[in-house]
Amino acid sequence: MTQKGTIGVTTDNIFPVIKKFLYSDHEIFLRELVSNAVDATQKMKTLSSFGDFKGELGEMNVTVKIDKTAGTLTVSDRGVGMTEEEINKYINQIAFSGAEEFLKKYKNDANTIIGHFGLGFYSAFMVAKKVEIHTRSYAENAQAVMWSCDGSPAYEMTPIEKDSRGTDVVLYIDDDNKEFLEPERVAALLQKYCRFLPIPVVFGKEQEWKDGKYVDTDKDRIINDTAPAWTKKPTELTDEDYKKFYSELFPASDEPLFWIHLNVDYPFKLTGILYFPRIKSNLDLNRNKIQLYCNQVFVTDSVEGIVPEFLTLLKGVIDSPDIPLNVSRSYLQSDSNVKKISSYITKKVAERLQEIFNNDRKLFESKWDDLKLFMEYGMLSDEKFYERAQNFALLKDTENSYYTFEEYKKLIESNQTDKDGNLIYLYATDREAQYNYLEAATSKGYDVLLMNGQLDPHFIGLLEQKFTKSRFVRVDSDVIDNLIRKDDKEKNTLTATQINRMSTVFRSQIPSLEKAEFIVVFESMGETSNPVMITQNEFMRRMKDMAAMQPGMSFYAEMPNSYNLIVNIDHPVVKKVIDQTESVCGAELKPLEEAIASSKETISQLRSAQKDKKPEEISQEDKDKLASAEKQEQESEQKENAVLTDFATQNSSIRQLVDLALLSNNMLKGEALSNFIKRSVELMK
Ligand code: ADP
Ligand code: MG
Repeated sequence: MTQKGTIGVTTDNIFPVIKKFLYSDHEIFLRELVSNAVDATQKMKTLSSFGDFKGELGEMNVTVKIDKTAGTLTVSDRGVGMTEEEINKYINQIAFSGAEEFLKKYKNDANTIIGHFGLGFYSAFMVAKKVEIHTRSYAENAQAVMWSCDGSPAYEMTPIEKDSRGTDVVLYIDDDNKEFLEPERVAALLQKYCRFLPIPVVFGKEQEWKDGKYVDTDKDRIINDTAPAWTKKPTELTDEDYKKFYSELFPASDEPLFWIHLNVDYPFKLTGILYFPRIKSNLDLNRNKIQLYCNQVFVTDSVEGIVPEFLTLLKGVIDSPDIPLNVSRSYLQSDSNVKKISSYITKKVAERLQEIFNNDRKLFESKWDDLKLFMEYGMLSDEKFYERAQNFALLKDTENSYYTFEEYKKLIESNQTDKDGNLIYLYATDREAQYNYLEAATSKGYDVLLMNGQLDPHFIGLLEQKFTKSRFVRVDSDVIDNLIRKDDKEKNTLTATQINRMSTVFRSQIPSLEKAEFIVVFESMGETSNPVMITQNEFMRRMKDMAAMQPGMSFYAEMPNSYNLIVNIDHPVVKKVIDQTESVCGAELKPLEEAIASSKETISQLRSAQKDKKPEEISQEDKDKLASAEKQEQESEQKENAVLTDFATQNSSIRQLVDLALLSNNMLKGEALSNFIKRSVELMK
């Protein structure tokens, strides 16, 4: 006898809502129906294993079929099936309280709605105009029934003949969703959502190559791997198994560096395998390679909110029935289970790396360069991870040796502590370009770190916060004695007059370079150090490095690079230039220098006398005196400048010294470089 009724929905009609609003995620209906079939099959197995079912289980595959002519997609199982009462209970009675409000809020998020209402089965109406359930319960002598519903709250139930135990869910696909009658589309969906389901899922037949084309064989094609690696015990798996699983998940990937097999039962259930990929650069491209499963059903591959941000650089699978999957993201982030899971994974990842570090330091070091970006990102973004990682994170020096933070501190402590007790970490970003400075540092017995990674500018900042009384200084940011100031020992100095003369002499020979400013500085660096060097202020350079990475800081990016041109007054060639300046220009300069000094004196006297007066209180005579003194000073300075520039231009060794310094910083280019070469050849004559 046919039974008619209305589905227990308090809101007028759920179906238009399901159809209309859930447009984005239509495809998940297949996941829902296949997983219902799998659930029913697993229940059947359980009943049998407990002896509550004594009959033959028979073949237990779940089958997905499409029939284009009938316009149907059918999901069949040989699970527990349903009696009429069970259909009433599980299918017909769906209680929606506050449904309308909720639907409005989440209208674009099918997952959320389905999860909230336990609507898995009803998601069929997202793509079907009519749905039938043909089912026969496993219970002895059960009457098979067919339930049918055309998308209105009205349904029909009729007794039917059905030979086999289990359920067929038949979807009459509506016109807007014809894509779900295409074998390729359905195969792709099964591959996405059902690839690792625990019960074999059949879709179509195995094919073979015959008479120049592929033809179906008699053999069912099973689309899933029912026992993926993460469901096994770590002891059952070899390294090869792990690598094989990785290449199945991520074909065409490099071999992973390490992996970690997660397995917890309490306080939540979670299994999974996370792989550490090689990351050299481009952090963003490596995101979203963790797939989230719920009892082997694929849910999503965007895991933000579930694992800490930096762990989204890892690849692999996480499977947990305890993550509330069918809810909105904002809800996820505040869920206490999710928070626990998140900190559990961070802890496990750190422990695993620590374990590899402890057991096989060589191996760990050999993979460090590929792991470094991940580690630094983790330490920068997650305080807890920093705390754990500081014990096994490595620093690499320019000699390719690796040290833990603690080891490195011990290494440099005695030789690289400055007079104020600060520990100075020297670093280079480019072994080739900074070779000169590197050499100067190593010849002093200093160790120099190699910090050439994408995140190193930030990471250096972090380490400076974490390490007490420590500073990081790039080798080319100052002359070696100033990088690590050891004492205030007396050094050679120039007189004020000499400094004045030499500044003009050297400045006049610096070619004008785009976006570069030079300050001429004199240092006593010993006879064997280079005569002239170029350094770049650490602070300014860092600011510019940061600016290059952060769009908001264009102010710094626009500023010219400020360099110091450091002249080593101990160097014989420089000494010679100083002496020659005196012998060649001294006589001519002296009166000019005296004139400048006396003009300056007059100017400062006049200024201090006029300082507190208003302009109208100053006599014209005094105003004129000041103007003429200023003019005189200017004229004398111009003459002095001309004499020195003239001398410097005649004396090709000055330009040669400047060019050599530029050259060793890779700053001598174009015409300046060509002139340098010509001049060098000239000098050899
Ligand atoms: P859920 O799977 O979360 O319980 P669904 O809406 O997907 O919610 O299914 C509702 C109920 O209908 C299931 O709990 C189950 O009792 C029953 N059901 C659905 N599909 C099948 C099936 N293929 N075989 C047996 N029972 C089923
Ligand atoms: Mg379900």
